[in-house]
Amino acid sequence: MTEAKKAKILIVDDDDVIRETYVQVFNQKGFDVLSAVDGVEGIDLATKEIPDVILTGIIMPRMDGFQLIKTLQENVQTREIPVAILSHLGREEDRKRAQELGITEFIVQGTITINEIVEKIRSLTKSGGSYKLSFDPYAWDAPRLAKTLPGGSFNCPNCQEKVILEVTPKAEEKRYDAILKCPKCDSVL
Ligand SMILES: [Zn+2]
Repeated sequence: MTEAKKAKILIVDDDDVIRETYVQVFNQKGFDVLSAVDGVEGIDLATKEIPDVILTGIIMPRMDGFQLIKTLQENVQTREIPVAILSHLGREEDRKRAQELGITEFIVQGTITINEIVEKIRSLTKSGGSYKLSFDPYAWDAPRLAKTLPGGSFNCPNCQEKVILEVTPKAEEKRYDAILKCPKCDSVL
């Protein structure tokens, strides 16, 4: 068997402690790790190295995480690279902005373990990761399905947000795994 190619991650964050921590962790987990201190450096490395995935902070000097994502999306070379956001503050307005930019992984620092973050990032590197979809809770079999759920509705039992459908392609098969999940607090129904 040939050895699997290492996934290449670019970590962009201006906080030295956080950035160095993630650099170490992803190195230990077998990733090829690149790092940048802000969006400008991030863009430079992303276009030169074409990483398999990017993990970026939001607030940074010179160019912030959102500007970084927009710039990546405008470039044909980099627009397919999956990006996860690492939010230090977990602000709702940032989550909305991320959603508008099509970012499916909005990770709030301190709310999940570092191993869970690594797993989320790993799944992004495989066939682009999972897809988050909204659906009509009144169409087709949705009302019938709702009756089987905790609380009998599609609202998150934790925070009342309407849940979404997260589908993950199974490698090399035309099949998908689907779960109902809260986009706000990540609870799975
Ligand atoms: Zn929730």
